[in-house]
Amino acid sequence: MHLVFVPQIFISHFHGDHSLGMTYYIAHRNLAKLETGKIYVPAAALEPAQALIRSQAALEQARRDYELIPVEPGMLIDFKRQNQMKIFATDHRIPSVGFEVIETRSKLKPEYIGLNQQEIVKLKREGHEIVYPIRMSRMAYVGDSTIKVFEMHPEIMESEILITECTFLADDHYEEAAKRKHIHIRDLVNYLPQIRSQFIVLMHFSMRYTRQEIKYYINRYIPEHERERILLLI
Ligand SMILES: [Zn+2]
Ligand SMILES: [Zn+2]
Repeated sequence: MHLVFVPQIFISHFHGDHSLGMTYYIAHRNLAKLETGKIYVPAAALEPAQALIRSQAALEQARRDYELIPVEPGMLIDFKRQNQMKIFATDHRIPSVGFEVIETRSKLKPEYIGLNQQEIVKLKREGHEIVYPIRMSRMAYVGDSTIKVFEMHPEIMESEILITECTFLADDHYEEAAKRKHIHIRDLVNYLPQIRSQFIVLMHFSMRYTRQEIKYYINRYIPEHERERILLLI
């Protein structure tokens, strides 16, 4: 419900567990007379998504105010002051993307470090460019994908917070992970040494596992020295 008040929504792909809230989001923003919500969707899903919204509106005999914006891998979208959303492709059964939050900050050029406030103001007045931009990857969200996403976009392993699916855990679900195009924990652990993120959030565990089973497999597969930075969304 609280997501209704978020003015911009990014949808990774249109499997129901990632997208069924869309029409609810639009309906409630309309009802609450909030400004038009912006919904970013994979370009290949644009028309069916529009049809879905139209059908829902027809069923409710209501007018709907919304903005659907198609995104393609490689795009950089300004969505918040100093923040851009980078769109990257993931490897899944239907067109699917992931999102990386890039923050741009101004940093003082090394030659000006140590100057006092007055000297800096003076340089600025004289028209000197005293800062340069630095870009930081604050967060990367993989959405649904196979393990290939880390080969396709190694830069997401540098993000401060990495949020990734880890759908399958049990040994006898290893083939199923490949077939259904999801990540198995056995593959994910191989990437841990390369991932430099401060926090790694694991989510999207198959509903067939209980909380206890999830914790059991995490303890079994994730080396102890890595566990401190692993967070589970269960
Ligand atoms: Zn999916
Ligand atoms: Zn999913």
